[in-house]
Amino acid sequence: MLEIKEFNKIIVANWKLNGSNDFLEAYFEELDSKNLRLNVCGVICPPTAYIQNCYSKLHSLYLGAQDCSKFKEGAYTGEISASMLKENNCIFCIVGHSERRQVFKENNEDIKIKAAQLLNEKIIPIICIGETLEQKKMHKTHEVLKEQVINSLPPNSSKESVIIAYEPIWAIGTGMTASLEEINDIHEYLKKDIKEIEDYKILYGGSVNSKNASEIMNLENVDGVLVGGASLKADQFSEILKA
Ligand code: PEP
Repeated sequence: MLEIKEFNKIIVANWKLNGSNDFLEAYFEELDSKNLRLNVCGVICPPTAYIQNCYSKLHSLYLGAQDCSKFKEGAYTGEISASMLKENNCIFCIVGHSERRQVFKENNEDIKIKAAQLLNEKIIPIICIGETLEQKKMHKTHEVLKEQVINSLPPNSSKESVIIAYEPIWAIGTGMTASLEEINDIHEYLKKDIKEIEDYKILYGGSVNSKNASEIMNLENVDGVLVGGASLKADQFSEILKA
């Protein structure tokens, strides 16, 4: 398993359901991931169909997946197991993204099983949590995040093997980001007040771009970012990697 404690910042690109062979060619032609600081870990999570193509072009970056099956093997048409991801060089895998929770109705228990499968294969799960705008307005953010974390964390998890991504749902793909103070306070709450994830690495996600990445990543309690839309533009993601 990759030693994540060696990294000061972890920067993850989530391409979602975007890309093509032509896109990959052009993207890696333009992406500047040379001369990354040694303590920065850059990760690309393409759609599973492009994992091999992507791996051959990554150079100093790491490969991640966007999801995995909760099943090991068998009659589950369309699924991709953690061991298949491992055989295809995935080091990280996002689980519990809000789009999986909302569109595909995944619950904390599903996410816990997926994360456990990944840990068995020595892949680092990036477990996403986040509140809706309605929950935020009702001042339920802390409560919601705690409930998600505690119920999605597999039993054999540790701060060396699991990463948490705080992604307020209202900030994903909307151009709205939480304020710097809010981000830092929520990360502090997660790291210090929830003993199950004490001192875990916590990434922030939600409309991160090349303009705001540096100030977000410089916050004391932020260990990196999970980037959706802006990670599809090679010039923007190059800047974020160097922010
Ligand atoms: C995401 O998909 O995890 C995400 C944070 O998206 P965006 O950066 O586009 O808000």
